[in-house]
Amino acid sequence: MEQGFILWFTGLSGSGKTTISKALEPELKARGCKVEILDGDVVRTHLSKGLGFSKEDRDTNIRRIGFVAHLLSRNGVAAITAAISPYQAIRDEVRAMEPNFVEIYVKATLEVCESRDVKGLYAKARAGEIKGFTGIDDPYEEPPNPEIICDTERESVGESVKKILTKLELLGYI
Ligand code: ADP
Repeated sequence: MEQGFILWFTGLSGSGKTTISKALEPELKARGCKVEILDGDVVRTHLSKGLGFSKEDRDTNIRRIGFVAHLLSRNGVAAITAAISPYQAIRDEVRAMEPNFVEIYVKATLEVCESRDVKGLYAKARAGEIKGFTGIDDPYEEPPNPEIICDTERESVGESVKKILTKLELLGYI
């Protein structure tokens, strides 16, 4: 069985987590990996349906994603998670239970994420229609020691994907 691992993307809404993870998926498959993406937005419509955005609900959401990702990894799957996951403590909690944990900080300033406003959520948060939006009126804790940083203001999607593949080769996961 192939060795599984977790690729844990974290970053502000609009930083590029979904875009990079989707671009990475076929590259991993081409290298013989089984891949599953646990996208934050998708998880919230299924596994975490009904949860809100309080600190407690966010923590529950991330713990669930971490648990499922760990089960997948344990069974030889490349489990990719793409949720904001704003709190370092919970990310570290998942790291502690998963031997093959790769944290990827998808980095872009709030200003750039807000100007991209992919889903129109920043405009809603600024208008007060969404409360507790990460980066606006809820914190985002930057990872101090991620395995990989993808700076999406300076790198193309392809460059970020290449960087991740190189690191995974170095770690012996692919
Ligand atoms: P997230 O999943 O983090 O909320 P998305 O991937 O949905 O973010 O949105 C990121 C947006 O930024 C997309 O519209 C994407 O096309 C754009 N973008 C611009 N440059 C990059 C880059 N280098 N890497 C990733 N996304 C980028």
